[in-house]
Amino acid sequence: MRKDKMRHYKFLLDQHRENREEIIEDMEGLRMGEYDSFHLDELSGYDNHPAEIASELFDIEHYMALKKLQMEEVKNIERAERKIEEGTYGLCENCGKEIDRRRLELLPQARLCIDCARKEDEEIISTKEQTMKRRPAEEQVLDAAEMNRDGVRNEALDDLMHYGSSTDIE
Ligand SMILES: [Zn+2]
Repeated sequence: MRKDKMRHYKFLLDQHRENREEIIEDMEGLRMGEYDSFHLDELSGYDNHPAEIASELFDIEHYMALKKLQMEEVKNIERAERKIEEGTYGLCENCGKEIDRRRLELLPQARLCIDCARKEDEEIISTKEQTMKRRPAEEQVLDAAEMNRDGVRNEALDDLMHYGSSTDIE
């Protein structure tokens, strides 16, 4: 990759990292105030409100998951920045092919080309299926759409059959 291109992606990566770091800082600031001064006292005061404790725990869990996601992205960005230094930036870590430029514009920290990323997603989904015995929502929506399409098709077919048989009689 040419030097000016590298500078361009370094700039994009910097922007992405700053955004993430700001989000993490905001989250920390928000939570610190909330939990230190107020919520922790309140939590210990809950005796007969399991639902409130549950929703509180869900909040914390949700927050932790979001924060973890942001921190992982920062790590990915730093990793991409190291690759710029090493001169391996923009190459798929799995198959070694060049990652599509449009993909890098949107996701400058991308580790994989679009094909490998899709494969990895599929693997994650199938592992989740096996462990959770639950199908991803996206797939259920697709199924519903499929069923709907079949329903429409069958109806049309019924109409055709009906129409066909009535003309036969006439
Ligand atoms: Zn690849």
